[in-house]
Parts: sequence; C-alpha cells; structure tokens
Amino acid sequence: MRPFAYFERLSQAFHDYPSLSKILVVSTISGGGLIVYSEANPSYSNNGVETKTRKRKVVLLGTGWAGASFLKTLNNSSYEVQVISPRNYFAFTPLLPSVTCGTVEARSVVEPIRNIARKNVEMSFLEAECFKIDPGSKKVYCRSKQGVNSKGKKEFDVDYDYLVIATGAQSNTFNIPGVEENCHFLKEVEDAQRIRSTVIDSFEKASLPGLNEQERKRMLHFVVVGGGPTGVEFASELHDFVNEDLVKLYPKAKNLVQITLLEAADHILTMFDKRITEFAEEKFTRDGIDVKLGSMVVKVNDKEISAKTKAGEVSTIPYGMIVWSTGIGTRPVIKDFMKQIGQGNRRALATDEWLRVEGCDNIYALGDCATINQRKVMEDIAAIFKKADKENSGTLTMKEFHEVMSDICDRYPQVELYLKSKGMHGITDLLKQAQAENGSNKSVELDIEELKSALCQVDSQVKLLPATGQVAAQQGTYLAKCFDRMEVCEKNPEGPIRIRGEGRHRFRPFRYRHLGQFAPLGGEQTAAQLPGDWVSIGHSSQWLWYSVYASKQVSWRTRVLVVSDWMRRFIFGRDSSRI
Ligand code: FAD
Ligand code: MG
Repeated sequence: MRPFAYFERLSQAFHDYPSLSKILVVSTISGGGLIVYSEANPSYSNNGVETKTRKRKVVLLGTGWAGASFLKTLNNSSYEVQVISPRNYFAFTPLLPSVTCGTVEARSVVEPIRNIARKNVEMSFLEAECFKIDPGSKKVYCRSKQGVNSKGKKEFDVDYDYLVIATGAQSNTFNIPGVEENCHFLKEVEDAQRIRSTVIDSFEKASLPGLNEQERKRMLHFVVVGGGPTGVEFASELHDFVNEDLVKLYPKAKNLVQITLLEAADHILTMFDKRITEFAEEKFTRDGIDVKLGSMVVKVNDKEISAKTKAGEVSTIPYGMIVWSTGIGTRPVIKDFMKQIGQGNRRALATDEWLRVEGCDNIYALGDCATINQRKVMEDIAAIFKKADKENSGTLTMKEFHEVMSDICDRYPQVELYLKSKGMHGITDLLKQAQAENGSNKSVELDIEELKSALCQVDSQVKLLPATGQVAAQQGTYLAKCFDRMEVCEKNPEGPIRIRGEGRHRFRPFRYRHLGQFAPLGGEQTAAQLPGDWVSIGHSSQWLWYSVYASKQVSWRTRVLVVSDWMRRFIFGRDSSRI
C-alpha cells in the first residue's frame, strides 16, 4: 500500500464518522509498519484497551462485467472488499472477436482488476476459483489457480458479511457428443488467442507439401456454429482477415478457403430487427459465407461435423476448425449452490428486483449467473388493493389509487411497459378503459374485480433480461450504489412502499436501461439497433461502433491501446505471424 494511503483512509474515516469517540487509532510501530485501525463497527476486546477494526467484509466472486463495474463504483470506505476470481483482470468481451483475427491485440482489451477499484475502498484480490458457497457458515471455499497458497494448501475458505456472486456463465455444449473435445469456444481472452493461432496453423498446414486438394480444402474449412451476435461477428472478422490479409500471403489458399455458419433456427441474429437479419444474410451470401439455416449439430468428431436439417436429414461435412458459439450454461459452483438453496430446477440464480438471492441473507447475484424473478402484479393484486384502499371501504377512489400509483409503477416495471405498448399515458387511462369495457364507466370507484380486469394483461410484459455485458455492468453499478448508501437508506428508505409488508423498501428496485446493440458484419459495415427501434446499417454505423467501443473502455490505457490497434490495422493490415 502507498505510504500515505493509511493517512488518507484515516482522514476519510474521520470525515465519514465524525463521532470521534467511535474512532480509535492504534498506532504502533511494529514490524516496520504503521498500523492504523479506523473503526466502523467498534468491537472492544476483553481488556478494553485495544480496539480492532471490523469493517464489513464484502466478498466479490468474479472480475467480469458485473464484478468490475461493482468495484469501479463502490465508494464507501466502511467496506473491505475481497475479490476472488480465477483471472486477475477484466476483459472487454465485445472486442474478443477482433482479437481472434489480430484486429486488436489481446493485451489491449484487458485491465488488471487491482487498477479498477477506487482508492479509498480497501480491496484485496485472490486469484482462485470458488467451488462451494456455504450460506450457513457465511463462507466461500476456494481453490487457488496457482496450485498452492502461502501455507502450502491448495484450498482455503473465506468468510463474508456480504457475498456478491458475479461468476458469469460458461459455454453451453448441450451435451452434444464431441463438442467439448473438438470445438473452440469464444468466451475468454485465451480462447480468442487460441483461435487466432489455430487459424494461422490451418493456413500453414494447408501449405505443406504432399497433401491432396481435398485435404487442403478440409483444413481451410472454418465452421461457426451459432448465428447469434458472437458467431456472426467472428465469421465476418474471419472473412475479412482471410480476404484482406491472408490471401496476399497465401495466394494458393484463396480458392480453397470456405467459411460455413450453421444455425439451428430459421434466421441468424434473431434478437435483432428483421431488417438487420435480412441484410446480414444477404451480405454473407454475397461474401461467400455459406449460411446453413435450420441446421442442428448432432455430432462432432476430430475431422467431421454432422448436422441435422428440420426434415431430419443428417449431413456430415469435413472441417479444419470449429468455433462453437451457441449460448450459455450454468457454472458447476452455481448449480451446486442452487441445489443447496432449493433452486435446483432453474437455469440461473433467481434474485429479487434488488438483486438479492431468493431465500438467502446478504447474498447478491448479478450478471450472466443470475436472473431477476420479477414479481407479478396479479400475484399481489389483493395486497395492492388493500394497500390502496386506505379507509378499508372495499372500493378504490381515483384519489386513493393516485396515491399509490407511482409506487406501483416503481415496484412493477411491467406496468409502464404495458402502458407504453398500448400508447397510454398513465394507469388511470388503463382503469378508465377497463371500466368502459365492463360497462361501469359511470362509477367513480373501483372494486377489486375491476382492478383485476384493468391490470390482468400487464404481466405479459414481464421479460427476462438478456445475458449481456450491458445488463451485467448496469447491475454492478446499481448494487455498488446500494452498498454505498446502505445506512442512509436504512434511515430514509427511498424505495416504493412494501405491498405485502409495512413501510418502504430501502432502495428503488433495479431498472435496466437498454442503450441499443451492434452487430458488426465485416467490410467496415455494422448494423446498429438503438432504443426506439431505430435501425442503421452500413459504414456510418461502423464509425458509431468505433466511437462507442472506444468510449466504453474501462481505462484510458486500454482506450489508447485499442484505438492505436485500429489505426495500425488500417495502415498495415492484420499480422499473421503465429506467436
Ligand atoms: P463474465 O464477464 O463472464 O465474468 C465472470 C467472472 O467470474 C470472470 O472474471 C470469471 O473468471 C469469474 N469466475 C468464473 N468462475 C468463477 C468461480 N468459480 N469463482 C470465482 N470467479 C469465477 N455483451 C454486450 O452487452 N455487448 C456485446 O457486444 C457483447 N459481446 C460479446 C462478445 C463475446 C465474444 C462474448 C463471449 C460475450 C459478449 N457479450 C456482450 C456478453 C457479455 O460478455 C456477458 O454478458 C458478460 O460478460 C456477463 O458479465 P458477468 O460479469 O456476469 O460475467
Ligand atoms: Mg376506499
């Protein structure tokens, strides 16, 4: 720690906790170090002389989008954060497809996690993987990636006061035989690096003497499985790499290279607007990328991949390299934890709208390993009615309803989504419409049946949030802000009223703001779908993509590296040396 950091922390402690009686500073020169204990929750020892600090300990599992944004935002020195993750850096995943072809270098998209935390929050990092969570004893059990820890043990446990689970997800093979052993995944930086050298290997192998044309063709057949944004982006990156750079160095390979994209659904990029899907499919056809729709992979061996069409026909094609990008599955540690807490039959950890794991105290989960179990309006309709009907008259006046309206909109975001989808301005429009439909438009008061019929459709708008970095990052920021204001909001709750309890919720629930999404299609063209279903495709969106991804970098260092990589590529092309 820097020499003055103790003093900074001390002055911060005085600033945050002005009641000096609660702050005891023990300064001893011991072992050459100045030890300062700033007190958040004083715990006096038996002799009453020495007081040891007990900061509240937050254990954070994972250094991905959710974990990094939590660390970057948390700004309250009363916590001590212990970060545990098998990798000591944050990786900017949207640029991984660019790393596979050397458009961007691997080191340009990563930032050491120790650089990310704020200076006034005490943070330490352990490079290890958590393999068991025990909510009973408030411990997590970890295994060091390095093999041994300082005590010569490979495994150790860590206590927590609060546990933040942000371990993300893993690639899903759907247990299809041969996938695990023979396919490349594109999830981590190492995966992207492996893909990069395998592509070059394929070109070098195919250039060796003594091979027939069929063998060379097989080696240069690149198969991408999965037509989601990652698969599509990788296929287009690879196409550009081959056509802009590699064919110049391997002229004989030009007519032998083939890229095939297999997608089980009827279209690629199904999560995007239809215009984008059509454009991408046409562009790929023009570029010579063979898009096989309705093709479900059933088996892979070391040389061939078999796919079944919807009609049930199985075709087997020889390949040189496969990149598997079909979606995500649950990590074993999360599966095990879910079994322990009775969520065994789910695919991700269920949390409430405040990101608290259902059925657990002081455990939060965010990002790809979790889903928010949005409370349904119809499940709570009787309680909502009771809460609004303050005088217990059995009917609701519009005035009574108005008083709880904003709380209801806060608590159940589906209400607002539903109103938007129907072009209505407020719940009163909805109530009036329901009354008109029921033929009771003359009555000024609502009974519970009328309220039910007004709100019966709103839950149709409950949607699971997508597993994206955008969601994970917003959740990390949200949770850190909640942690920062834990005490303030305990005294002055800022959330909506508790429908099934008393008082207010401490915080407002998490609300996702969709900022749009991109699908780079190669040839300096990108499709962008921005909020309000605004679609833009082409070279101008590519520039928007460059500027958004440059601005989203976690540090100035990576920003400079990424932008200079792009410039290097413009000037010199991509490097094909296999190192
Ligand atoms: P991750 O970012 O996956 O982080 C999980 C962390 O947990 C990692 O640090 C991991 O090492 C650690 N961990 C794993 N197991 C353990 C364990 N047992 N104990 C402790 N730590 C553990 N999203 C977008 O919004 N836009 C995009 O353009 C986009 N492009 C993408 C491109 C690619 C190639 C990929 C793979 C993903 C892309 N995504 C994109 C999705 C986005 O990366 C994920 O949704 C996001 O990473 C999820 O964040 P997370 O923090 O939940 O998990
Ligand atoms: Mg009433």
